[in-house]
Amino acid sequence: MRRLCSELRVRRPLGCVAIAVAALVTAGCATLTVPEEQQLADQFEAEIRRQHRLVTDRVIVRYIDAIGRRVVVAAGPQPFSYEFSVVDDPTINAFAGPAGMIYVHTGTILAARNVSELAGVIAHEVGHVAERHVAENYGKQRAAGIAHTAAVLGGGLLGGSVGANAANLATGLGLAGVLNSFGREAEREADDFAVHVLPRAGYDPNGLPSFFETLIAEGGPSGPAFLSSHPAPRDRLVTTRETIAALPPSGALRRDDGGKLEIIQRRIALLTGESSPRSPDRRR
Ligand SMILES: [Zn+2]
Repeated sequence: MRRLCSELRVRRPLGCVAIAVAALVTAGCATLTVPEEQQLADQFEAEIRRQHRLVTDRVIVRYIDAIGRRVVVAAGPQPFSYEFSVVDDPTINAFAGPAGMIYVHTGTILAARNVSELAGVIAHEVGHVAERHVAENYGKQRAAGIAHTAAVLGGGLLGGSVGANAANLATGLGLAGVLNSFGREAEREADDFAVHVLPRAGYDPNGLPSFFETLIAEGGPSGPAFLSSHPAPRDRLVTTRETIAALPPSGALRRDDGGKLEIIQRRIALLTGESSPRSPDRRR
């Protein structure tokens, strides 16, 4: 499969490229290698910083980072050193970038009713990276970039290399929303990854389906990333509950963290002016 992808960068004429691109897209070829994914991380981070405001408050970032580290350690050896960031955005969402870059919205932290829910969201995003879903999506975008270039060349509008490389995609097409538009199977895999890893990290895996209840109460999904509309949160809630019921019994698992989450939520409210859905002024 990788041989086909390499050929695409050099082979002409265009007819051959177009046929090969179609085969590549449908075959799902072109998943990035680990080194390719690592090369993209800095460019992706720069693009995110251009498009979003990241929280710089160390107390908040360290809190999320600590939860993320517990999840990653529990997941076992990983090819990436994960990095956890907080996006100043009141919507409930989280997303993953290349090479273990995980972003959690302040809206998600505020909406979490306990730390196991927050750990559930983070573990789901780690699952997308660990299962190479982000790399697959990036690969598909690279293939689409080649197809686009081929189409433009076919129209006689542009001369130049057909070889769209991954680095160009980081600034041209590397939108978090596109990269986090996962299919039904990938979402199921990430949920499954999360509920298996959470007990090993010391968190109650019921935090994930419990957070789906919040999503449903908030009116359902409205975009890509964690709020993926397929499968519906209600279906994911049922599936994850069934998976958890079949897990071997674990020892004492953490659902709350002794008031730390509430302190972080108050800090976010102070710094951003956002408030928790559980606050009196946000209750419906
Ligand atoms: Zn997802």
